[in-house]
Amino acid sequence: MYHRVAETNIDPWQLCVSPQHFAEQMDTLTSLTEPVHLANIRERSGNRPRVAITFDDGYADNLIAAKPILQRFSVPATVFVSTGYTGSQTGFWWDRLEEIFLHPGSLPLSLLTLDINGSKRTWRISEADRHYNDRDCRRHRDWAALKSAPPTSRHAAFCELWQQLMNLSDEGREQHLRSVADWAGHSEPAVARCMTQAELRDLFDGDLVHPGGHTVSHCRLSALQPDQQREEIVGCRRQLEDMLSRKVVDFSYPFGRRSDYTSYTVEAVADSGYERACTNHGGLVQPDSDNNELPRVHAADLSGTEFRSWLSTVIDV
Ligand SMILES: [Zn+2]
Repeated sequence: MYHRVAETNIDPWQLCVSPQHFAEQMDTLTSLTEPVHLANIRERSGNRPRVAITFDDGYADNLIAAKPILQRFSVPATVFVSTGYTGSQTGFWWDRLEEIFLHPGSLPLSLLTLDINGSKRTWRISEADRHYNDRDCRRHRDWAALKSAPPTSRHAAFCELWQQLMNLSDEGREQHLRSVADWAGHSEPAVARCMTQAELRDLFDGDLVHPGGHTVSHCRLSALQPDQQREEIVGCRRQLEDMLSRKVVDFSYPFGRRSDYTSYTVEAVADSGYERACTNHGGLVQPDSDNNELPRVHAADLSGTEFRSWLSTVIDV
């Protein structure tokens, strides 16, 4: 499972693999495994283990950086797109938060106050963390939000806000994000850009890269009412099918942990025209894996050699 193919000094969710590493990883996969489309992952042929590459979200670098490498190695892939972000100038909400708190710049000393569902929350950036430069970014290059404690008051505010915002509806989240951006004086367009309609058509032109649904607004489905969940799941498929004039049968749950969707979600996905759905549960597809909750493994930013030795701990190569 991949998200972005890009170079960066700031990657709190470990979404980026550099173009050089991605090429080395595809080279390794073609020499040791049989890369196939997700639809064919369960078929058996030959001695090599089958591997299906997926990307979540719909970042522009999937077309610009990843597709040429997939073409060079003839590796098929599925890209799951959150359609509501198509052509967005501000990018995905978690990136906007990252750009405000973790990219170089200055933040105000004034208290950030948000009223979230009737409860008043406040954050303060310490004097020492107020100004942040490239060197600070490099120092925290390896910080991973899910693995270690926030090293500065910027990182702490970033984590707490992420947690608060992920449980809101799209409108609520957008309103609070605007307040945070106003407080920070942040108005720049996204660094991590989402694909435009034209780019999505380019990416899915031909048979190498298949489109998949990832909801409209990249919502946490378990936090939504049943009818809102259906709108997100069905709406995304309709928008993609209209845009691309092709059938969309693959889905991946945003965030993808067991707590991020419910048994209702799984049923709604299955009877909305999707044939299979991917989670973020770490693991390999087994003969008894449920097609509506397929496990995946996260590919880290490793060189070809590192990737090869990691791969040998995951599959029999
Ligand atoms: Zn996602």
